[in-house]
Amino acid sequence: MDERRALLGLTLDGLREVGASAGLPSYAAKQIADWLYRKHAASIEEMTNLSVRARAHLSAAHVVGAAPPSGVQESADGTRKYVFPAGADRCVETAWIPEPSRGTLCVSTQVGCKMNCLFCMTGRQGFQGQLSAGGIYNQYRSLPERDRVTNLVFMGMGEPMDNLDAVLDSLAILTAPWGRAMSPRRITVSTVGLIPGMTRFLKESECHLAVSLHTPFDEERARLVPAQKAYPIADIVAELRRHPFGLQRRVFFEYIVFTGLNDTPRHVRELARLLNGVQCRINLMRFHAVDGVPLPETREASIEAFQAGLEARGLIATIRKSRGLDIAAACGLLSTAARQSPSPTA
Ligand code: SF4
Repeated sequence: MDERRALLGLTLDGLREVGASAGLPSYAAKQIADWLYRKHAASIEEMTNLSVRARAHLSAAHVVGAAPPSGVQESADGTRKYVFPAGADRCVETAWIPEPSRGTLCVSTQVGCKMNCLFCMTGRQGFQGQLSAGGIYNQYRSLPERDRVTNLVFMGMGEPMDNLDAVLDSLAILTAPWGRAMSPRRITVSTVGLIPGMTRFLKESECHLAVSLHTPFDEERARLVPAQKAYPIADIVAELRRHPFGLQRRVFFEYIVFTGLNDTPRHVRELARLLNGVQCRINLMRFHAVDGVPLPETREASIEAFQAGLEARGLIATIRKSRGLDIAAACGLLSTAARQSPSPTA
């Protein structure tokens, strides 16, 4: 087995360390970053502005580490769900969602998830491991449609704030001038509201934030999103009030509408109170019945009425389209439990 370390996923600082240990001058880190992140080199051999000796030194302990998808399913609506390898016997899913004016890539940050949200297939899979920064970045790097990606959302498998070092490194690679130089305004990272991670993310990144809300009431939210017990929604919103949001940097609240459960006038009133004065948008999503999940489906009339109720209270609420339903690529449906060892490690 090849035990050499992957270069993909290293930031400029990491590449400087690698270069120093291989005896390369400090400027070589930028050259390697250029090959990795702008030219998408598949091997160290391709890095022809490094000397033959430097390439030999680097290759002794390193490989590029890019990995193509090992499987794909395509939906009738054009959404594709790719499977990417994530270490021994493990894999993650990545959703490619093309639209006429944009192409959105939804990446995973963990193999499985610890958060156990009631409505989510990934949560039911349990947690099998962290993705490295390279494992996160590779879902973009090795995507066949890479050059059509205009937006990235970190909303696939896993809770990004529970793997924050790797997430921040992958964001640095995507946005830094020595990396892909994408605008952070085209990237959104989701969270159930792990406050310490969320606070650090807001300080160390400029990307948008999406918080899973789903109900403003504590007990109800604790049933849907168990992380509520450690980080209540009132504390999450209080923390968000300490950070500036507006047109440049946005905060979204994700709200799956379970008809009859979390879409009543009482919910509208409490949401208006909770979010009063926060510059935000609410993304309303439909829930489609999943075997064994004791939650009601979204009825079309109810999601529209809920949206109207929120807007009447001055909140901005948008109904999101469901994409990739027939291949289980829609929100909350990603799971690789059937493709790998079912035994969780944590
Ligand atoms: S919704 Fe997100 S945080 Fe919750 S279990 Fe699923 S992947 Fe984890």
